[in-house]
Amino acid sequence: MNSIYGYSQKDFEDYLLSLGEKKFRAKQLIEWVYRHKIKSFDEITNMKKDFIERLKSDFIINRLECVRLQESSDGTKKFLFKLSDGNLIETVLMVNEYGYSVCVTTEVGCNMGCVFCASGMKKKIRNLETSEIVLQIFMVEELTNIKVTNIVVMGIGEPFDNYDNVIRFLRIVNDPLGLEIGSRHITVSTCGLVPKIYEYSDFDLQVNLAISLHAPNDEIRNQIMPINKTYNIQKLIEAIKFYIEKTNRRVTIEYILLKGLNDSMACANMLADLLHGLNIYVNLIPYNEVIEKPYKRSSQSDMKIFFDVLKKRRINVQLRKEQGSDIDAACGQLRSKEMKGRV
Ligand code: SAH
Repeated sequence: MNSIYGYSQKDFEDYLLSLGEKKFRAKQLIEWVYRHKIKSFDEITNMKKDFIERLKSDFIINRLECVRLQESSDGTKKFLFKLSDGNLIETVLMVNEYGYSVCVTTEVGCNMGCVFCASGMKKKIRNLETSEIVLQIFMVEELTNIKVTNIVVMGIGEPFDNYDNVIRFLRIVNDPLGLEIGSRHITVSTCGLVPKIYEYSDFDLQVNLAISLHAPNDEIRNQIMPINKTYNIQKLIEAIKFYIEKTNRRVTIEYILLKGLNDSMACANMLADLLHGLNIYVNLIPYNEVIEKPYKRSSQSDMKIFFDVLKKRRINVQLRKEQGSDIDAACGQLRSKEMKGRV
């Protein structure tokens, strides 16, 4: 049966029209589900009994089971949720100056194979359903009694590899009658599935786009991100340019600093050449070391030098403050430990 959390307002409208019901009931349904957080359709007071019975036979009101909750000293919380088929996914809640940000997972496992990332140690088992992505936000709000203000689609999985479900998720969480999270407060991150970046250029919501670049040239990127062998840096930059021209929006470029690999001054200068003149913002990310991987975080001084080079070259740049490193908040770490029975 369909989860009620996988339906956008438009989906409910289509459903209602197919039943010969009035369209405005879609708004009422959204309010019952997301505002009143009903656990049973019987709690609905403004709809006819036989329609409520119909809802019961068409939808389930489900939850994700929270099997582990870890809290970091900086307030970051990491949730391990069990899906109805027993698969485990991670969701992270971060507290910062602008509110509460949640990092959601989009796939069980990941096939992109980025060598530094813990998520890719487990191959993709399946896409998450739209409802399973929406429920991560819903569950975090319900379990912690807060209102989520920001979403980053940067958990386990490649969102553009589960494109349709992610797009529907974005519409649902953005609905002003539902979870009401402003599109400008949502960021989707991709490792660079170029055809999907073109497709995403037509998406009507003002959701931010982040690109995991992590290297200034193909030689280095080929070593650490297999996707680069399919869509190299030139193709990626062309797609980013197209997206910026089409949407008039600034793109975030993510760049993890890996010791001795991509963190030299020469790399910083190459990166500045590559990004020169683009409406972008570079987010330098201190690498969160993963026990099973040989990669190391760059030293503070190398990170500062890299940052200064970009700044001097007039590239918009920030050095990301890390959160939750004491609770394995780096992508995929908690799930991979749980699966080996180490936590
Ligand atoms: N698949 C998407 C989104 C998930 S990863 C993507 O690649 O963009 C979100 C970000 O975290 C990516 O930039 C990813 O490269 C980065 N990341 C992965 N493992 C990391 C680690 N151990 N430390 C720091 N950042 C990491």
